[in-house]
Formats: sequence, structure tokens, C-alpha cells
Amino acid sequence: MNVLLTGGAGYIGSHVARVLAAAGHRCVAYDSLVKGHRQAVAGELVVADVADGQALRQALRRHAIEVVIHLAAFIEAGESVAQPGKYFQNNVLGAWTLLEAMRDCGVSKIVFSSTAAVYGQPSRLPIEEADALAPVNPYGASKVCVEYMLRAYAEAHGIGCVSLRYFNVAGADPAGDIGEAHEPETHLVPRVLQVALGAAAAVEIFGDDYDTPDGTCIRDYIHVTDLAAAHVLALGAIRASQVRVYNLGNGEGFSVKQVIQTCRQATGHPIPAKVAPRRAGDPLRLVASSAKAAAELSWRPKFPDLATIVEHAWAWHRNHPRGYA
Ligand code: UDP
Repeated sequence: MNVLLTGGAGYIGSHVARVLAAAGHRCVAYDSLVKGHRQAVAGELVVADVADGQALRQALRRHAIEVVIHLAAFIEAGESVAQPGKYFQNNVLGAWTLLEAMRDCGVSKIVFSSTAAVYGQPSRLPIEEADALAPVNPYGASKVCVEYMLRAYAEAHGIGCVSLRYFNVAGADPAGDIGEAHEPETHLVPRVLQVALGAAAAVEIFGDDYDTPDGTCIRDYIHVTDLAAAHVLALGAIRASQVRVYNLGNGEGFSVKQVIQTCRQATGHPIPAKVAPRRAGDPLRLVASSAKAAAELSWRPKFPDLATIVEHAWAWHRNHPRGYA
């Protein structure tokens, strides 16, 4: 299929592009390069913003796009608490601009990048797709808004959508040439590995007084290549007038302290850690049930264990200490 991949120059986008190409799809990356990296794109790239409806229409028509995979968004839960407007504008208005452009151009299929943050602080684990949507930060709320918008467009206009709710994405393609490079970096695994690289003296643990066994927040980590593979499977699951939703995680929770310990083992570095205040908008525990993705998409993670995820991340960071710079 001819796929337009918004956010195609980003961390997840570059991995999705690689898996799409390997599966024989034609992928056109669409990215503003505000956060993305030109060097992360192997194929065609349109440099434009999702807020630019004209550029979107032009890209959809020029490349005879049949399906859109929409990843372009701001993604930092902590930042979204301080700057909610930035998140609603880019994530919600961006999706609306895209959906209107798709309607004008007769493109009716979309895979949407959603998040575990839509669940907020879940009342039971593992989280299933039908569980309540109750985000505790504006980032999660912005993604809930888009999921509701997609349902309305599906019902009214026949749009077919698969919404993938990502848990904590980490790791890098095993080939070692693409990986995570955010500026500034806020995510746990790369922040811990930066200490092993000597870029920081110690990693901060954002709160050790949570109601968890070691007092730190628990997350479900998923390898970026496994996450990318789910997008290709999702293309075959799109049905007109439906929004299908799938969690993507490994079903096992690791605390911040456990992640740091795994990074110490992978790197052989002592990685000092110091406790810092809690980060606003952090749910204490997020663990996925991905049974639905396994059953309906035949999704089978190749790298489910945290040690492998961290080893692949470490291989990337060690060889690219300045990211793509
Ligand atoms: N975290 C931390 N120190 C850091 C970065 C993150 O303690 O330098 C914690 C963060 O508070 C959260 C977990 O690690 O509990 C995962 O955070 P991340 O930003 O990687 O992903 P999120 O769960 O927010 O999507």
C-alpha cells in the first residue's frame, strides 16, 4: 500500500518506516523536523507540519496515498501538565486537520498512535482496551480527544481506524543504525543510559514514595521494533466505519529502580541514582494486556524481555552518543 507516515522522522516513525518497507509497502514520511531527524529517514520525506492542511492534501494526492499512519504528536506527559495548550493544539488540532484533508482526498484508512496514558491511574491490572479512559495528564487527554474524534468520523464519514495504545517504548532496531534521539531527552531508559555514557553524573528517580514494592513507578516496556511490527499488522485490520483499539505492551511491569538495575547490568557502569520529587501527571502503575492484539492481529513480540530491550538501546546510544548529530 502507499502509506503516509506522519512523524516519520521520529524515533517510533523511523522504526515503523523500516518495517513497512520490509513488508513491501511504499512509505512516504511526513515530518516537520521540529523533533524528527532527516537522517532517520531512508525513503521519501515531505517536510511539513500536520497543522498545514494544504501540504497534507498535496502529499496525499501526489503520492496516491491509500492509508495514513499518524504518529506526529508531542509526547511528554510531564511537559503537558505545564503546557497543556501546546498538546491540545498540536495533537488534537493536528489530527483534525489531517482527518479533514483525508476526507477531501478520499483517503479513508488511518492507524493512530495512541497511548497507555489514556487510562490514567487504572483500577485494575493488566489493563484491557475496554477499561475506563481517565487520563491524569493533558497528553493522555489529548489522545483521548483524538480517539473520540476518530469514532465520530468513523460513524459519520466511514473512516476506518486502528488505534494502537502504546505502553513504554524503548530499545532500538537491532541493526544499530536508528534509535532514540530526543532533545531534550525525558524518557527513562535513554536518561539512564546517558549516565553510563558520562553525559550526566546521576539519574534522577522521580519519586520513591509511591505505593509500589520499591516505591517507584511501574511501567510495561515494549521494544520499538515489536511496536513497529504491530503497525504493519494493523493495516490489514482496518475496517470501514470502525475504530479498533489495541494495547501494545509485554504484560510485565518494571519499576524505575528495576530499569536502572537492568541498565547497570547491560552497561557494566555503576549508574548512580538520586531521588528527586515526583513528576507531575505520573500514574504509578501501567501494565498492558495485549491479548487482543495477539488474538486479532496475530502480534507476537520478538524481543519481550527488558534486558534485550535495554541492550539494543545501549548498542545505539554507545555508537551514537550524540544521536543523529
Ligand atoms: N522517570 C524517572 N527519571 C527520569 C525519567 C523518567 O524516574 O529521568 C520515571 C517517570 O517519572 C516515570 C517512568 O520513569 O515514572 C517512565 O517515564 P517515561 O518518561 O520514560 O515514560 P512515561 O511513562 O511518562 O510515558
